[in-house]
Amino acid sequence: MPLYYEEPLYRPPSEAGSLLIQATVGCSFAHCTYCISSVEGRFAIRPLADIRQDLAEARRLYGPRVPKIFLLAQNALAMPAADLLEISATAHELFPGLKQISLYAHPLDLLQKSRAELQALVAAGVTLLYVGLESGNDEVLRRVKKHTTAAKSILACRRALDAGLRLSCTVIIGLGGRELTGEHARDTGQMIAAISPQYLGCLTLMPYPGSGMDRSITQGTFEPLAPPEVLEEFRVLLENIGPLERTCIFRANHASNYLSLAGDLPADRERLLREIAAAQSSPGSLRPEAWRAL
Ligand code: SF4
Repeated sequence: MPLYYEEPLYRPPSEAGSLLIQATVGCSFAHCTYCISSVEGRFAIRPLADIRQDLAEARRLYGPRVPKIFLLAQNALAMPAADLLEISATAHELFPGLKQISLYAHPLDLLQKSRAELQALVAAGVTLLYVGLESGNDEVLRRVKKHTTAAKSILACRRALDAGLRLSCTVIIGLGGRELTGEHARDTGQMIAAISPQYLGCLTLMPYPGSGMDRSITQGTFEPLAPPEVLEEFRVLLENIGPLERTCIFRANHASNYLSLAGDLPADRERLLREIAAAQSSPGSLRPEAWRAL
């Protein structure tokens, strides 16, 4: 029997070689105004027996040498910790060389887990979370219905790091539109400094067709940034990422971005700022609008 997958499937680019296991479907928050989940709106936690069956089938298909598993879907950390521990135990039995289990998480999923549960997950091999923070500005978060605040996101991420998890955080350039661009960039940079995640990824806003934000753009109540304003937001963001507790691997090379940037923070900050300045004086070097994608 084939492994069960339910569209749409999203996984981080760095999980391209991972075994994908559908643990949940959709997103339990599903209100963010720019997101496909706010349009499609379904959330379900799959029965453990079905997930175990998929793991067993994957072992039959791919053998025991699976190094990494990514648990789908958009916030699989909404599952009870006990279920995640069982999945991890089964996965390690079937794949003895397994080095990492990772999944997407909303900041509130983290706050709903106790410190002991987070530590148990790390001990069981769930070691990397991809957390969509999107913005460090509360007004932006409120307008896009992200169901968190900057303070809650910082607390959630600090708790995860303290429990031994590694964090790959994502923020969205342009999420505040023209009206809130300065605040969004400044507060998001400061939030990243307060968290100090191991990885930071930047996307540039591309509202899902038919989403609330897409309609707001059509109605003229949300003004998206033009490419030069996106570059300026990147500059302000980077300048506001103050001292970090650990090296942060920074990537803005997703296809949604007009300019690809990659480096380690803080070591490469000046070089990244120079690349932004060069692009600001040479807008023809940016990715054309038609080539952008999510
Ligand atoms: S952005 Fe994330 S939390 Fe918000 S609806 Fe989409 S998947 Fe859910």
